[in-house]
Amino acid sequence: MNDVKHLVISKIKDGTVIDHITPGLAILVLKILGIKPKSSEAVSMAMNVESAKMGKKDIVKVEGKYIGDQELNKIALIAPEATINLIQNYEIIRKFNVKPPEVVENIIKCPNPNCISNSNEPIKSRFRIFLDESRVKAVCDYCGRKLINLEDYI
Ligand SMILES: [Zn+2]
Repeated sequence: MNDVKHLVISKIKDGTVIDHITPGLAILVLKILGIKPKSSEAVSMAMNVESAKMGKKDIVKVEGKYIGDQELNKIALIAPEATINLIQNYEIIRKFNVKPPEVVENIIKCPNPNCISNSNEPIKSRFRIFLDESRVKAVCDYCGRKLINLEDYI
C-alpha cells in the first residue's frame, strides 16, 4: 500500500469525501453544495494535487455530515468524474460516482439578459441537463439558451 504518499489532507472520522474533482473547481463544488462564507461545516479542501488517474485533481471533505445523493449529483455539472466516499468511523461505507441530474434549479445563471429568469420576477433559473459528446451541457428551460463550460455560469 502506498496510500500515505497520496494522502494530501487528513482522514476524517465521519462524513463525506468528494474526490477526483476537476482540478481548480473545488471552490465551485462548495458553492453547489451551499457551503458559503460563514457556514459552520468543518470543511477541508485541496486543489491541484497529484492524481494517478487524472494528473491533477481537487478534493473536498465535509466532516460530520452525509450529503444527500441529489445534492452530490449536482457536482457532475462541473466535475463529472467526481467520486463520493461516505466515511463512518474512518471506514468507507459507500462509494459511488456522481451522475448529472436531468434538471437543475437555481444553480446555473442564464447568460441571456432578456431571459425571464433574469427579470425582476421571482423566478428560479431552470436548466435541462444533457450529455453531448461525453460533455455535460445545459439548456435554459425558459429561453432555450444552450450552455457548455457550465463552470462559467455557476
Ligand atoms: Zn434563459
